[in-house]
Amino acid sequence: MQPTPSTPPVNLYDLPRAALGELLAGWGYSAHHRDLLWEALYRQQVESFDALTGLRPDLVQALRERTRLERPTTHHEVFSGDGYTRKLLLRLRDGQTVETVLMRFKGRATVCLSTQAGCAMGCVFCATGQMGFVRHLSPGEIIGQVLHVTRILREADESLRNVVLMGMGEPLHNYEGTMAAVDTMVDQLGLALAPRFITLSTVGVVPGIRRLADEDRPVQLAVSLHGATDAERGALVPAARKWPLAELMDACRYYAEKRKRRIFYEWALIAGQNDTPGQAHALGQLLKGMEAHVNLIPLNPTVGYGERPSGPDAVRAFQDILASYGLPSTVRQRRGIDIDAGCGQLKAAVERPRRAQQPTAS
Ligand code: SAH
Ligand code: SF4
Repeated sequence: MQPTPSTPPVNLYDLPRAALGELLAGWGYSAHHRDLLWEALYRQQVESFDALTGLRPDLVQALRERTRLERPTTHHEVFSGDGYTRKLLLRLRDGQTVETVLMRFKGRATVCLSTQAGCAMGCVFCATGQMGFVRHLSPGEIIGQVLHVTRILREADESLRNVVLMGMGEPLHNYEGTMAAVDTMVDQLGLALAPRFITLSTVGVVPGIRRLADEDRPVQLAVSLHGATDAERGALVPAARKWPLAELMDACRYYAEKRKRRIFYEWALIAGQNDTPGQAHALGQLLKGMEAHVNLIPLNPTVGYGERPSGPDAVRAFQDILASYGLPSTVRQRRGIDIDAGCGQLKAAVERPRRAQQPTAS
């Protein structure tokens, strides 16, 4: 929806601190005023202009007239049976809905954020991919998800530690929006989240990985592989046809070298498809000698994809083969964030009322 003339076009949550400073400087306000406003937005987390009591009244009036404070609202919400996971379907300004998942395990709260409504990458097993692409989220729509869960956590006297960009959408396809939101997340005067606790998961957008390597944003990178040859990967991940494995691995080596960081590689284990010893050996060969950790995620079945997750024996055998190449791996449990959060299933279930709703955590 385009802003109407009566709706101020600027959502303050869209602006990292530098951009907010430029806006305010144009109105004649100094960096000091910018920082007071910033602290109100992200430390005190005020939710209305009326609550901006520490600012000059003329500045508050200008903000009221020329900007808006807009956050997503709750459209639907489910709790997992184990009580650790709370999945939110949040509604955006134009009625689009996106998933945000809050996990509170052993006092370490993690949020899984969406970066797009839908996704253009079309991975065959992914509920978001099955929906197709709608649009990028603005930085404010990504930050709005963070503020939504920090409000929940504050009420329980808890705080947020980990952020995973593993919800709906491909973060490196929405590079600008995602990075502006990351800049706001790590800003020391505000949310002050630690970059090493922010994980960005990508399907393998090569130009985005290279750009991230060149920029000073030390987030943790996870790359979704799912196949160790172009043919096998391309059958599951159509984006692989655009960025073949050789190019992708070159970009990963470049990133690891430049950022001096180990990369996580994700692999959804699909029974009889990509869980064979042959695929495990191919993956071992592909990553051998690299600073890598493999996250194995038994497939979470979706309405649009008929395959099943690998059984425990196949998972163990796969891990053993990886270990023989010196590659550490972890199996992400299904109740974990990587599965339920990563795939748009809540949205699919809520918005297809005639189909049985999926349980919140499997
Ligand atoms: N677009 C990014 C981030 C969002 S998806 C990416 O693809 O990496 C986050 C993770 O969940 C990815 O590794 C993705 O492959 C995985 N995923 C999506 N649907 C899944 C499913 N049905 N079962 C298991 N993993 C899934
Ligand atoms: Fe998009 Fe990631 Fe789903 Fe693939 S797995 S369709 S890249 S959200």
